[in-house]
Amino acid sequence: MKTDRALFHPDYKPEPYWWEAAKPGTRFSSDLPNTTEIFVVGSGYTGLSAALELARAGRAVAVVDAQAFGEAASSRSGGGVSAGVNLGKGISGGPGQGVQAEALLAESHAAYDHVVALIEHEQIDCHLEQRGRFIGANAPGHFPGLVKKADMLNRVLDVGAEVVTRKDQRSEIGSDFYHGGIAIKRAAKLHPALYHKGLLETCHAAGVRLTAHCEVTGIEGRAGAFVVKTAQGDCRAEQVIIATNGYTGGLTPQLRKRLVPISSQIIVTEELPEDLSLELIPKGRTISESARITSYYRLTPGDRRVMYGGRARFHPVDADVSAGLLHGMMTARWPQLKDARITHSWSGFVAMTTDSLPHIGLEKGMHYAAGCNGSGVAMMTYLGHQVARRILADGLSDSGFAGIDFPPVPVPLYRGNPWFLPIIGGYYRLRDKWERGRG
Ligand SMILES: Cc1cc2nc3c(=O)[nH]c(=O)nc-3n(C[C@H](O)[C@H](O)[C@H](O)COP(=O)(O)OP(=O)(O)OC[C@H]3O[C@@H](n4cnc5c(N)ncnc54)[C@H](O)[C@@H]3O)c2cc1C
Repeated sequence: MKTDRALFHPDYKPEPYWWEAAKPGTRFSSDLPNTTEIFVVGSGYTGLSAALELARAGRAVAVVDAQAFGEAASSRSGGGVSAGVNLGKGISGGPGQGVQAEALLAESHAAYDHVVALIEHEQIDCHLEQRGRFIGANAPGHFPGLVKKADMLNRVLDVGAEVVTRKDQRSEIGSDFYHGGIAIKRAAKLHPALYHKGLLETCHAAGVRLTAHCEVTGIEGRAGAFVVKTAQGDCRAEQVIIATNGYTGGLTPQLRKRLVPISSQIIVTEELPEDLSLELIPKGRTISESARITSYYRLTPGDRRVMYGGRARFHPVDADVSAGLLHGMMTARWPQLKDARITHSWSGFVAMTTDSLPHIGLEKGMHYAAGCNGSGVAMMTYLGHQVARRILADGLSDSGFAGIDFPPVPVPLYRGNPWFLPIIGGYYRLRDKWERGRG
């Protein structure tokens, strides 16, 4: 499939827009130590957040990554920061769901507070803007569900959710695509790569030992006496944290069986006239949707470009191809952007779970946090911190995410290759279309 070249700006790059401000690299990288107290696999938000807490508690910590620091999801995301609104699709907080659901929701609220406080405390300059989120109803039949969701979120979490009817919708978004929606005040957006850069610098200053381009190929031993095998040699460690999320591979086969890596794709437009971007999202909120296959979008810092993300395809696809598909989805919502050219297009992997919840736990004596389900800026930062707290508390955790079952993907012989996604994705797309068409 060929994308019309007229859609691309002459400066087009098939890589994240965020890398213009902070390209993942090897700054602070040093040789692998022979020994450490805690060894962290993965240098995204999860790994760095865990490492920071442990280093501040006086522990010797080494973080290694197979790629440049933060080159995976943590510098590729949409940068939306939410407080529970995306938690487990099955969690309604309604009667019958019990205290556990409410406790998990409350913790995702705490995750929001945690990331905001961390950014403020460490003075990380990452364009954090607490301007709220609008969730549009893709079909008329979705609107009552969103109204119920707003009620629940206000009751359990006090997020300042308000119902927006279709008549009033243009105060939130310059589009008639949605059938009303809800606006949530307690939500934010940030620059994901600058946030990662700030975390990396903070970790370095706290004494975390960092090694880039060093794939971990095997882990032997048990808690208290691990030997970590890497491309740069072995390292002895008392504890290991697996923070590999959507990039989890054969290193941890049991974890891989429980995660479904899904590619998510994003484009960014050229600079738009100021009055046009103000018309598109007057209050500068992040936008998401009620459909099964959702898009997520926002203005970039400075409010002059649109960043539009979604699932153009359910398998990894060339950035030029996803650019064309996403442009089509964007102009279905905003026909006024038909001439807006694309400057950047990229993708990255998120890790889905069968219960749509993130998890922390122990596997063969190793700690892990995984399963962001596409919403990990706040949550994975928080869960990294929770894993560190657990190590500092000799294995005890007061996080509800440590106490829930973490079932494997119910597909025989599944080993991390989600061949079934295009089938499920195709079915969801049809359902979304059918529900929208019912009017
Ligand atoms: C396109 C996209 C859009 C997103 N949008 C949003 C959003 O708007 N809001 C939101 O909240 N979340 C969003 N997310 C999710 C969010 O980015 C992730 O939840 C978060 O970055 C996960 O952080 P992490 O540290 O767990 O994983 P990652 O940042 O993916 O880091 C995992 C690291 O593990 C390393 N690794 C794996 N195996 C090994 C090994 N054997 N040896 C050494 N290193 C290894 C990888 O190289 C990688 O760097 C998005 C994600 C993507 C991809």
